[in-house]
Amino acid sequence: MSRRKNGSSFLWIVILLAIAGAAAYVYTADMFERNAPEISVENSEYWNPKKPLIVKIKDQSGLLSYKVSLQSGSETFVLADEQFAVPQAEQVLELKAPRRAFALKSDSVIVTIEATDASKWNFLAGNRAFVQKKFVVDSKRPSVGIVSNSYKISKGGSAIAIFKAEDSNLDKLYIETSFGKRFKPIPFYKEGYYISLLAWPVQESSFRASIIATDLAGNRTKTNIPLYLKDRKYRISKIKLSDRFLNGKVSELAEEYGVEENADLITKFKFVNEELREKNEELIHKITSKVDDTQIDSFGISTFYPLRNGKKVASFGDHRIYFYNGAKVSESWHLGLDLANVKMGKIKVSNPGEIVFAEENGIYGNMPILAHGLGLYTLYGHCSSLNVKEGDHVSSGEHIANTGTSGYAMGDHLHFGVLVQGVEVRPEEWMDRQWIRLNVTDVIKDARKIIDRQ
Ligand SMILES: [Zn+2]
Repeated sequence: MSRRKNGSSFLWIVILLAIAGAAAYVYTADMFERNAPEISVENSEYWNPKKPLIVKIKDQSGLLSYKVSLQSGSETFVLADEQFAVPQAEQVLELKAPRRAFALKSDSVIVTIEATDASKWNFLAGNRAFVQKKFVVDSKRPSVGIVSNSYKISKGGSAIAIFKAEDSNLDKLYIETSFGKRFKPIPFYKEGYYISLLAWPVQESSFRASIIATDLAGNRTKTNIPLYLKDRKYRISKIKLSDRFLNGKVSELAEEYGVEENADLITKFKFVNEELREKNEELIHKITSKVDDTQIDSFGISTFYPLRNGKKVASFGDHRIYFYNGAKVSESWHLGLDLANVKMGKIKVSNPGEIVFAEENGIYGNMPILAHGLGLYTLYGHCSSLNVKEGDHVSSGEHIANTGTSGYAMGDHLHFGVLVQGVEVRPEEWMDRQWIRLNVTDVIKDARKIIDRQ
């Protein structure tokens, strides 16, 4: 009796184990996986119908079918419908919708994506995925129109442009140049209008600037800023380095910034003229590239006159090539205007602004930088003493510093620099009343008149 009972229990255990084993197999085997296909849409919620809709579908056990349809108004268009005899791996679909789908008057369309996999789960029916996404349809490029701009730009000089840019889904707006620099426009006067100063770096042989506007659907407009280009010759100076010169300020600066005292003179000179200069100018470019993008209505700027009766002792844009014992050893560009009068002459501000830097900066010595708005900055190098600190707001006529010989300077002078969004420009233009009127203030006045009429 009991033996038979034991025998049947054993059989039951075997059957239960077999069922449990089969269940475990179903639970873990790929062919019974329970994950629905993964569907992803690459496009943002704004869709430019000229560009394809990109859909990715993948599944663990393989895809058996998918269907993509688009609903525009009351009509539905099937964009893709596939059934596979053999389960498929990941599918990347680039779908174009018929023109007719967008001719219907609707600002948005709904795309439905369905997919099934090859799993035997769900009583062999497999897993099903369903995704619905709404798109704002936008096939219109942003509109860009130039309102007014400076007539010309000189090599090493500045210019200004005012334009209108419109799009209901405007994304990016910037000014692209032929030399890689991007200028950032800021809102001007009335909605949809923008203003930007431009600069042609003295080291660049050509200049071209275009306004680029893109929208969230990826539509793009490029409009050239029509400027008459005026080439300008800058001086190339060949300078012979003497031991006396190299033993003085050059060695002093090199040692101060970490070059070994017993290093040779040319190593020290190259460090100061190249490495240290690059580091110091990088900091200047970083500080002066910032543009406050709050709307402005005007830009009143007066002639810069930083040092009373300052005599020019070196020009902006000089290309200096250095020789030692007859061989070329280094070169650099002088990116400011050197002015000298008396020792420790008073440096005065011609236009109000904010002090954005007032510290020592390597070869530039003690150096305040002033932000005047619209991405325009002025810089005062080699000062002996500073009367201002970062964050100070100064008004015209204020005495901010005194000239000196700090940094890489032989005699007492002021290195006066003007920068437009991080690019050094010819200070003489901004020291010329006529130039400012013709190239900046009149252009802004004209633009306001045109905008008022629009
Ligand atoms: Zn200088």
